[in-house]
Amino acid sequence: MSRLRSGLALLAALVAALIAWLAYPAGGVPILAYHQVNDEGGKYSISIRDFGEQMAYLTQQGYTAVTMAQLADFMAGEGPLPPKAVVITFDDGYADNFTNALPILEKYGLKATVFIITDKVGQPGYLAWDEIRQMRSRGIEIGSHTLGHLALNELDMPEKVRQVTVSKAILEKELGGQIGVLAYPYGLFDATLFDILRSAGYKGACAGVNGLNKPGDNPYSLKRINVGRDRIGLAEFRLRLLRAGIYSKLSL
Ligand SMILES: [Zn+2]
Repeated sequence: MSRLRSGLALLAALVAALIAWLAYPAGGVPILAYHQVNDEGGKYSISIRDFGEQMAYLTQQGYTAVTMAQLADFMAGEGPLPPKAVVITFDDGYADNFTNALPILEKYGLKATVFIITDKVGQPGYLAWDEIRQMRSRGIEIGSHTLGHLALNELDMPEKVRQVTVSKAILEKELGGQIGVLAYPYGLFDATLFDILRSAGYKGACAGVNGLNKPGDNPYSLKRINVGRDRIGLAEFRLRLLRAGIYSKLSL
């Protein structure tokens, strides 16, 4: 009986140690991935209120939002990051990023990155060039989400090159300055894209893999945390951050 009891005590201690190890911060940088911020309830939207709560939570927890370019420099050993860095990103370039997300980001002094599909600019529901320029002048980093949002891993080499280089050239012509980051449409990529992006002058690219990012990781397959619509409120957002840390530790 006492052997059983000491066995159970040992097991309980091991479980507690495992939970503590999994829950301990993983020491990587989270990149949050958003699409739309509105109250229309679409598949890729979160409500304005939930977004506001999440940004307030990050601020209360002492996170500092940095740009993708800052993260890429840090990962290449070329620059420091604040202790609790986070990257806030938006895919596709929806108009509500300007009307709904930007005021909340500015309220909390948070930087963010918006990845633009250049073929979609100015179309209904998407950002127009003058809105993108305003966002940029108000501290938002702009990145490429390619010309036409095709799955890059399914394209032949010349078309892969065209999707990433021409979209970059269009953004640089319209906005001035350098565009250094990209998000793969659907998060899909293959290894040929690393060299293509490096040659094209990109510093980093976001993939669709869950987890956190550490120095030495491949900057052309950055992990992200997809933030979908909350069903159980802020607890779900906190769980997503925690889960990405666990994925990172287990190298899933
Ligand atoms: Zn997309």
